[in-house]
Amino acid sequence: MSECLFCRIVAGEIPSKQVYADDRAYAFLDIEPWQEGHTLVIPRRHVDHALVDEDVLAELAPSVLAVSALLRTRLGATGFNILTNVGADSGQEVFHAHIHVLPRHADSPGIRNIRGAIHRDLDEVYALLTAE
Ligand code: 5GP
Ligand code: ZN
Repeated sequence: MSECLFCRIVAGEIPSKQVYADDRAYAFLDIEPWQEGHTLVIPRRHVDHALVDEDVLAELAPSVLAVSALLRTRLGATGFNILTNVGADSGQEVFHAHIHVLPRHADSPGIRNIRGAIHRDLDEVYALLTAE
């Protein structure tokens, strides 16, 4: 069994709120969101961070696009922060590559407000994102 938290999430050994997946990437809600709908997009293979090789960002790009479209249509996002931390000095805490996709809205704009107010819990946001 892998000791990597996100490898275990990809394998289904640890539960997660999946919002999108394809053959190379997996996307799920961040457990401590900075914005409602804060999503992590990760490669299915283990790499420590997004700059390990030139393929990682390409593997994640289709999922980032799909997730941003979902956040736009389901949560009304009108902007996004697309962020990846590389290395402990950047603030990276989980050493399996991941891109943070943060939906943004006009009522709380700008990088200074990247940690916004959370009014709806994860279950409620997840229901909005996954309703048929
Ligand atoms: P980092 O600081 O490494 O860029 O971000 C790691 C992110 O993973 C954090 O935003 C944190 O909230 C999230 N996270 C950590 N553990 C879990 C978990 O078990 N499940 C989920 N869904 N997110 C997690
Ligand atoms: Zn891993």
